[in-house]
Amino acid sequence: MRKKYLKLQHLIIGVAILAFALTIGSSLFSSYRMNKQTLMDNTLETNRVYAEKLATTANNYLNETLQTLTYNTNILATYINDEKRLLEEADRLKMQTNTFNSVSIIDKRGEIIATSPQSLNLKGRMADLPAVEKALKEQEPMVSDPFKGLTQKELIFISAPIFSNNGKYLGLVGGTIYLEESNILYELLGNHFYNDGSYVYVVDRDGRIIYHQDHSRINEVIKNNAVIQKIMSREPNGAQRVINSKGKDMLAGYAIVGNAGWGVVAQRPTDISLEPAVTMVKQMLYVAFPLLIVTLVIIIWAALKISKPLQRLAELAENSMQKDESKNLSDVKAWYYEVRQLKTALIQSLSFLHQQVTFFMDQSTTDPLTGLTNRRTLDVKLKEFTTEKIPFSLVIMDIDHFKAVNDTHGHNVGDEVIQFLASQIRSAARPSDICCRYGGEEFIMVLPYTNTQQAFDIAENLRRELEATNSPTGEPITISAGIAEYNQADMSPSMLIGKADKCLYQAKKQGRNQIVITSS
Ligand code: GH3
Ligand code: MG
Ligand code: MG
Repeated sequence: MRKKYLKLQHLIIGVAILAFALTIGSSLFSSYRMNKQTLMDNTLETNRVYAEKLATTANNYLNETLQTLTYNTNILATYINDEKRLLEEADRLKMQTNTFNSVSIIDKRGEIIATSPQSLNLKGRMADLPAVEKALKEQEPMVSDPFKGLTQKELIFISAPIFSNNGKYLGLVGGTIYLEESNILYELLGNHFYNDGSYVYVVDRDGRIIYHQDHSRINEVIKNNAVIQKIMSREPNGAQRVINSKGKDMLAGYAIVGNAGWGVVAQRPTDISLEPAVTMVKQMLYVAFPLLIVTLVIIIWAALKISKPLQRLAELAENSMQKDESKNLSDVKAWYYEVRQLKTALIQSLSFLHQQVTFFMDQSTTDPLTGLTNRRTLDVKLKEFTTEKIPFSLVIMDIDHFKAVNDTHGHNVGDEVIQFLASQIRSAARPSDICCRYGGEEFIMVLPYTNTQQAFDIAENLRRELEATNSPTGEPITISAGIAEYNQADMSPSMLIGKADKCLYQAKKQGRNQIVITSS
């Protein structure tokens, strides 16, 4: 089976579309990449700034709270033994700051000596909580780590030591802030809801969640989170892309609340942050689509325009082996250099080829001296006639005493005589007759659809014409001929020639310059 090859126009279109797709693809990809990087950088920076802002605000707030407590310790020192005044002061502190969920005054042994609100019923109880014990021991202003208080609520304890005028340690005043109840800290750190998937959460110094929009996660200790690890190792505030403990890809900013050692994390899912980049690519495609189609049409049109003349040349070159395509070749529009060169070269080489072919065809079918059909072609024709059972007559003739012509006038004149006879034969023949130089000075005429009598008339006319015409020798020449007719299906061409040859022999024998017809 013939192998199929790709066509130039398909190659050009293919390559052009590929280049086109690669260009579009790479420009979309690079703008997506750039946009994505910018979006990531911006989101990270926004989250870092936000986390830092929240952490600073929370820190300032805790500082102020500590200062308020410290400021009041002088008054409390004065009334340390006045239970009623201490209660009033505790109430006042709670009301004034609107920060604490409860305020307690604890003596240096750890006994609660006043509480607001009194409904908690804590007075007289020992505050045997690690946070209180630590504060009593260290005798310094403090913000505790979150813990479960006496009321079983998650809270932090902020306290300031009370010293008497002469510097004697009397105990402490402390306020609790419930992490999960409404207060300023909760508003600041625990209440962040955004529609875009962003959220804030806060961990304590051990990586335990203390504020989170999903309350069920409070108290959960976060492991396997690079940001939390940085917070726990007290690295400077920053931002980074992180896979969180739930396996979600996040862009997180983080900052530390100095006083409490907490870490504030503001984060947004990476996929949501990068959505604008995807949207931008879609929009670019949408806006550019009509232009892309137009470009594609132009590319295809140009590819066809370029490849068409080449394709036509290729087709014609293929066909020209069978037929002469020089007319069609000249019609090919050669509008650029390569096609013009190819076209010219093809026309030239094909015309040369056809000349050669015609020449060699003539050479192989005709006799060079006379231009008559040669013996090989005669054989072919006879075979055709006998195969197709076309009736015909065959005349074989020979110049009389030709040796004498050669001997007297030389070989060249002999040749001229042969040529002369050939032209006489041709004149005597009809267009459908085949005139052949059979050998030396012997000739055969094949006369289709002609019986012996008609053939005889033609040959006899020729004989008479020769008899009456001067040949190149300056005198007429004569011929003898024999005629045989083919009309029997089983007779072979060679048998027929043999038959006619016998008649010729007969004619020679009977005195030459005559024609003999087969008797049967
Ligand atoms: P006949 O009447 O019996 O035919 O006598 P003839 O002399 O013609 O005898 P024959 O036919 O046997 O002789 C043929 C001669 O033709 C012999 C040869 O020298 C000559 N001859 C053959 N071919 C050519 C040719 O191409 N050119 C020339 N000049 N002579 C040829
Ligand atoms: Mg002869
Ligand atoms: Mg002869």
